[in-house]
Amino acid sequence: MSTRQPGTAPVIVCDGLVKIYKVADLEVVALQGLDLTVEPGEFVAIVGASGSGKSTLLNILGGLDTPSAGTVKVAGLDLLNMTPRQRTRYRRGVIGFVRQQTGRNLFPYLSAVENVELPMVIDGRPSREWRSRAMELLDLVGMSHRPKHRPAQLSGGEQQRVAIAVALANGPSVLFADEPTGELDEGTGREVFETLKAVNEAGTTIVVVTHDPLVAHHVKRTVAIRDGRTSSEVLRWTEIDEEGEHRLMAEEYVVLDRVGRMQLPHEYMEALDLKDRVRLTLDPDHVNVWPDDRDRQD
Ligand code: ADP
Ligand code: MG
Repeated sequence: MSTRQPGTAPVIVCDGLVKIYKVADLEVVALQGLDLTVEPGEFVAIVGASGSGKSTLLNILGGLDTPSAGTVKVAGLDLLNMTPRQRTRYRRGVIGFVRQQTGRNLFPYLSAVENVELPMVIDGRPSREWRSRAMELLDLVGMSHRPKHRPAQLSGGEQQRVAIAVALANGPSVLFADEPTGELDEGTGREVFETLKAVNEAGTTIVVVTHDPLVAHHVKRTVAIRDGRTSSEVLRWTEIDEEGEHRLMAEEYVVLDRVGRMQLPHEYMEALDLKDRVRLTLDPDHVNVWPDDRDRQD
């Protein structure tokens, strides 16, 4: 569905993404025809059961893995047709990536501010920018009071906030985070999430994988992945009612792919015992789905 602003190109377009892992003689289909479009400035949460393909998707978007089929474009770049050099540039400058494992996001022997400076050093930015930009980013993530601390001297939540600053160092078009609060307790996780919100409000597009329903309820758009494809989306917005009160509105949508396929929610299928085939009828403004009741009619 469209949440797009007129006149802007999407920052992410995945079309029919397929990823097959071969393990010995077995094939594991991690993604099976996944479609996803993200507009600039969006904050999208991706949810789904363990093993549904969330990390596979994020690793492909992050340039850490390649799909078996389908197309994927980020910031106008075709991720399937990049030379190794372009791929490295992509990972360093076009996107930022935060991992779940706090220990893998930061260099243990560098201080917080040095960790944030490192991507700028590697990218060859002018050295006079390093410290001031790193401090600005630490300020944005609420960590400017501990620039000299090393990761081991920071809590897990503080380390993840520094990791967000590191991921933003080269001004990426999109920030990807794979379960960034997965190793944190609820309160600390919420702080990290608030940090992501602030980063989004400052203009960075964010795609975050989470299995925390609380997190998912605080973003405008939640995309659910089921069995390797996007199955449904929830959009949230606020409306002002007659009494002038702000009301949080939410609506769930089922994702329809380019050839018209969609997944019915399990509960609906069970409630009406829908299986094998259903009858469709078209009304002027909607489509009806009926159980196949031929047996009963005959
Ligand atoms: P999620 O992040 O939603 O838990 P993943 O993307 O990690 O799911 O995994 C999706 C499926 O792909 C799972 O069945 C998983 O076992 C499989 N898978 C993921 N990575 C690999 C790999 N490197 N080799 C083989 N199978 C993998
Ligand atoms: Mg995962």
